[in-house]
Amino acid sequence: MNSEIIHNLQTIQQRIQNACTESNRDCNEVKLLLATKTVSPERIKAALNSGQTLIAENKVQELKAKYDALKGTPHISHFIGHLQTNKIKEILKHEVSCIQSLDRLDLAEKLQQRLEFENKEIEVFIQVNTSNEESKFGVHPSKAIDLVQQVAKFDRLKIKGLMTIGLFSAETEKVRQCFRLLKNIQQEIIALNIPNVVMKELSMGMSADLETAIKEGATIVRVGTAVFGQRMYPDSYYWNENKAYL
Ligand SMILES: *Cc1c(COP(=O)(O)O)cnc(C)c1O
Repeated sequence: MNSEIIHNLQTIQQRIQNACTESNRDCNEVKLLLATKTVSPERIKAALNSGQTLIAENKVQELKAKYDALKGTPHISHFIGHLQTNKIKEILKHEVSCIQSLDRLDLAEKLQQRLEFENKEIEVFIQVNTSNEESKFGVHPSKAIDLVQQVAKFDRLKIKGLMTIGLFSAETEKVRQCFRLLKNIQQEIIALNIPNVVMKELSMGMSADLETAIKEGATIVRVGTAVFGQRMYPDSYYWNENKAYL
C-alpha cells in the first residue's frame, strides 16, 4: 500500500539522519536512491510524489516497461544493473543520466562510440567488486584504478564516482571492510588527479547496511526492500545473469 511506502520512507530518512549524526556528517551529503526492481510504476510514483527524486533499475527491460508510466512524474534515473553492450542504445533512449555499473573496458568503448554517434554524454560510476564474490559484477579492486584511467580517456563518459555492493553478511565488520576499501580506492584516485575524473560520489549501502556505509563515507545509499517490501526473486537473479534462477 502507498501509505506504507510513505511510512517506510520516513523510517529510512530517520535511519540516514541518525547515521549521519553518529558519524558527524551533514545529512545533505547523503542522497537516497530508490532501487525499483520489480516495483510497479504506481508504487514508484507514490514514492516520487512524496518528494523522492532518484530511482534506479537493474534491467533495461524493466526500465523500458516503466518508462512511459513514469515520464510525467519528475525524477532522475540511474542504472545499477549489469549492462550488456547490446542494450546500450536502449539505455540511452530511456534517459538514464548515470550508469553506476560500469565495470569493464569494452562496455566503456561501446558506450563512447554510441554517445559520439548521438552527440550525447553520460555520467558513470565505476563498479568495484569489493567483496570479491564471484557472484557479483564489478571490476576487481586491484584493477579499479587502471579501469578509471582508461575510461577517463573517453570524453563522452563523465566519471563521477564509484559504486559497490557490500558483502552480504550479518557480520558488520566484514561489510565495513568492503565500504572502507571503496573509500580507499576513491582516495587513491583523487590523489592521481586524472583529467576528466571526478571522484565525488560513493554509491554504497542498501537496506541492511546503509548505516555502516554512511559511516564509511557513502554519498548515495541504494534502498529497495526497506521502502517497497520484499521482492519475489533472489537478488542473485539481478546480480548475475549467468546463473539462471528463472
Ligand atoms: C536491489 C539492489 C539494491 C537495493 O537492495 P535492498 O536490499 O532491497 O535495499 C541496491 N543496489 C543494487 C545494485 C541492487 O540491485
